[in-house]
Amino acid sequence: MKKRIVILGAGFGGLELASRLSEELGDAVDTTLIDKNDSFVFGFSKLDVMFGVRTAESVRVPYASIAKSGVRFVQHAVTSIDPANRSVTTDSGMLEADYLVIALGADYDIACTPGLAESGYEFYSVSGAERVGQVLPSFEGGRVIVGVCGAPFKCPPAPSETVLLMHDYLTRRGLRERSEITLVMPFPSPVPPSPDTSAALLEAFAERGIGFVPKRKVAELSGDRGVAVLDDGSELPFDLFLGIPRHVPPAVVVESGLAPNGWIEVNPRTLETGHPGVYAIGDVSSTGVPKAGGFAEGAAKSVATALIAELKGEGEQELYPGAGVCYVEFGANSVGKVDVNFLSGPKPTGQFHGASPKLRAEKEQFGSSRRERWFGP
Ligand SMILES: Cc1cc2nc3c(=O)[nH]c(=O)nc-3n(C[C@H](O)[C@H](O)[C@H](O)COP(=O)(O)OP(=O)(O)OC[C@H]3O[C@@H](n4cnc5c(N)ncnc54)[C@H](O)[C@@H]3O)c2cc1C
Repeated sequence: MKKRIVILGAGFGGLELASRLSEELGDAVDTTLIDKNDSFVFGFSKLDVMFGVRTAESVRVPYASIAKSGVRFVQHAVTSIDPANRSVTTDSGMLEADYLVIALGADYDIACTPGLAESGYEFYSVSGAERVGQVLPSFEGGRVIVGVCGAPFKCPPAPSETVLLMHDYLTRRGLRERSEITLVMPFPSPVPPSPDTSAALLEAFAERGIGFVPKRKVAELSGDRGVAVLDDGSELPFDLFLGIPRHVPPAVVVESGLAPNGWIEVNPRTLETGHPGVYAIGDVSSTGVPKAGGFAEGAAKSVATALIAELKGEGEQELYPGAGVCYVEFGANSVGKVDVNFLSGPKPTGQFHGASPKLRAEKEQFGSSRRERWFGP
């Protein structure tokens, strides 16, 4: 009987893993890829949707177009995970696996920040970004806060990108003069592992008159008074609040008992959980690296090498290096890049490549090459 690999979640990690397994093992194994949605959206596309550059519909890549030998995509919601028996229940029945890979990403707990749902907007989900995209055209200028409500959060440079893109947006609409833009984030600098990236971002904020409040989270919004209350009790007035909501593991992961301390604990170099044959990759796991697509992709690659070695009976697992590339929107159509490495040395490192239109083309190539590899031309 063919070995059964079940991948939960068809995001950055799940899609990369399914593609690599298909390339190396074809239909010698039976891989099932499960997601509750009917399409994939790159995280960075949410910025385009929010600022009206693209519609939500145009950034969705339908799973129906996946045509990979040995891989079957099913659109179901996972309702329970039994790691000891490597079985999962979905809204359409039960599945058993020889190898189970959990790649369910991170969910958002919007309600845990009082006032966020009522008086502000989040832009980390597609629907949230769409809502902001509908509201922005009627914004007439004023005090804009982009605020982080909890850590860890996906794509640490994204809040910095958002304030720079907001500057461009308000400038385009002739509203910048009568607006203030402030970024609130819990880190001491915008991208702590890369002092050069942080310095370039701080310089870009200063040039554009964007305020930066480090080492602070937004604890609540008081809609009546129009203020964001920070975690030290200080207050910042706003007319438009765009929040990065607190991130939490999906409920089904919490209920599985795999994440007693928050995210799924894994061996950071092999991505194995404490249960034989059960792995966790990407944002849902705790490896000490940022929650970003490039890192989920690297983890998928490492697990693919483990499964391929085991199923082919040759080769060995490539240990997860905890390295990845992050592209950073600097506005004015320029993109910077930081190569970060978290696990290979004594401390995280990040090499910065200054913003340029050339890196914009490279970022576009990054997205289109993934789309092609995961979904076909
Ligand atoms: C605004 C923004 C900008 C970003 N920019 C970048 C960037 O420039 N570069 C970068 O590398 N990363 C970026 N990211 C982060 C990136 O999108 C994520 O880190 C990445 O998608 C994580 O991959 P993953 O496979 O772990 O999870 P995901 O890609 O989130 O995939 C998880 C999948 O699991 C599915 N799922 C969840 N629960 C269930 C369930 N119960 N049943 C069935 N399916 C379920 C979801 O539908 C989802 O498809 C950005 C994120 C945001 C929000």
